[in-house]
Amino acid sequence: MAIWNLGSINADMVYAVPHLPGPGETLAAQELSQFLGGKGANMSVAGARAGSHVHHIGAVGADGHWAVERLTEYGVDTRHIAELSVPTGHAIIAVDAAGENQILLYPGANQAISTDQLGQALSQAETGDILILQNETNCQVEAAKLGRELGLKVCYAAAPFDADAVQSVLPYLDFLIVNEVEATQLEIASGLPAAKLPVAQVIVTLGAEGARFFDTNTDEAQDFPAFQVDAVDTTGAGDTFTGYVLAGMDRGMPMAQAISQAMRAAAIMVTRRGTADVIPDLKDVRETKL
Ligand code: ADP
Repeated sequence: MAIWNLGSINADMVYAVPHLPGPGETLAAQELSQFLGGKGANMSVAGARAGSHVHHIGAVGADGHWAVERLTEYGVDTRHIAELSVPTGHAIIAVDAAGENQILLYPGANQAISTDQLGQALSQAETGDILILQNETNCQVEAAKLGRELGLKVCYAAAPFDADAVQSVLPYLDFLIVNEVEATQLEIASGLPAAKLPVAQVIVTLGAEGARFFDTNTDEAQDFPAFQVDAVDTTGAGDTFTGYVLAGMDRGMPMAQAISQAMRAAAIMVTRRGTADVIPDLKDVRETKL
């Protein structure tokens, strides 16, 4: 089987600055590092490193070749990434000496994906494949509807959270992943706690506390405590967890085993600095003592 990820691709440009710039201030940065980022790209890399065939459906501009090359190098199938005449999505991240940051996000090509491109990609999916969406691209509702029609398992990671965006895809979902804050926001917006949502399976991730799984058909809830590690950077933990859970499902693992493996991967991830480039592979996940 395979995973189809309609997902964002970003260049994360990290500038080291002596202090965060104020309004009207011009500030020289001391250092620039560029990383592959975007929730979509992170999830694709995690799924591929977990052993699944992941097709990334997305878009970059003419300035994004390096990002596509890197995704390919990391094992992601990039045939369905379009090159558009819109700049690649990017995040300009200023980080001061105390580690405090300020982020300016330009969605660019991530918001210019066409329904034609989406339809063409998904016409190659097979019944039972997994489709994952997050809230950093356009075409989410079209993708969710089409995925349902085609008999795909439609999954949504509701981040960055937007109540209208989640509610508009909710009727087409088989699987939802939210963190604790998003679960609370969704409960406020929909009036329903995670366990009562009209989605067959829901995972609420709880950071260092672990995760909770709800099977809303059977009313079954299961808690999974997190692995105890010394976290140095929690960026990308949720994306790593999502990519691994979906890869586990894709490869026929029972849900509890898929969650447990995803938690191992996410725990290793928080001990590393960086995002897509440092997502652990299966060998790391199997061999690292936690
Ligand atoms: P998000 O990054 O989307 O906010 P969470 O912070 O809930 O998501 O983290 C996702 C998963 O990553 C958790 O369910 C847990 O398995 C793992 N995780 C996150 N933070 C830690 C931590 N400090 N120690 C161990 N595991 C962690």
